[in-house]
Amino acid sequence: MNYTTALTTCTYCGCGCNFYLEVLDGKVIGTIPCKTSPTNEGKLCIKGWNVHEFVQNPKRLTKPLIRKNGQLLEADWEEALDFTASKLKEIAGKDGPDSLAFLASAKLSNEENYIYQKFARAGVGTNNIDHCARL
Ligand code: SF4
Repeated sequence: MNYTTALTTCTYCGCGCNFYLEVLDGKVIGTIPCKTSPTNEGKLCIKGWNVHEFVQNPKRLTKPLIRKNGQLLEADWEEALDFTASKLKEIAGKDGPDSLAFLASAKLSNEENYIYQKFARAGVGTNNIDHCARL
């Protein structure tokens, strides 16, 4: 058995609690609060305690889906990205960039969420960006 831990930051809200993710044989199996973190001092809320559970959840989408004739069908990443880019360009070209909105996810890392808001603001040209942690 190969057991390791990785220090990281909770993605669920802006508090930024630190914890160690426990990894057993390549699978994330648990969360241990970081006692030396000045933010949470060894404490976590219920969301933080269970943050590891979504990683290997069998219901998690691992491939993009495109709706065709009313049905969501699996697509490869190139097709999905081409489809999304063409739709974003079409809508922004017709009605302006503020006709688009971007919703980020607590299931992404802070770095991924940063890139996402940068894409919305600097790439597309809209400040219509929000995050599910505020819902
Ligand atoms: S553990 Fe709870 S309070 Fe701390 S960052 Fe995560 S969601 Fe926020």
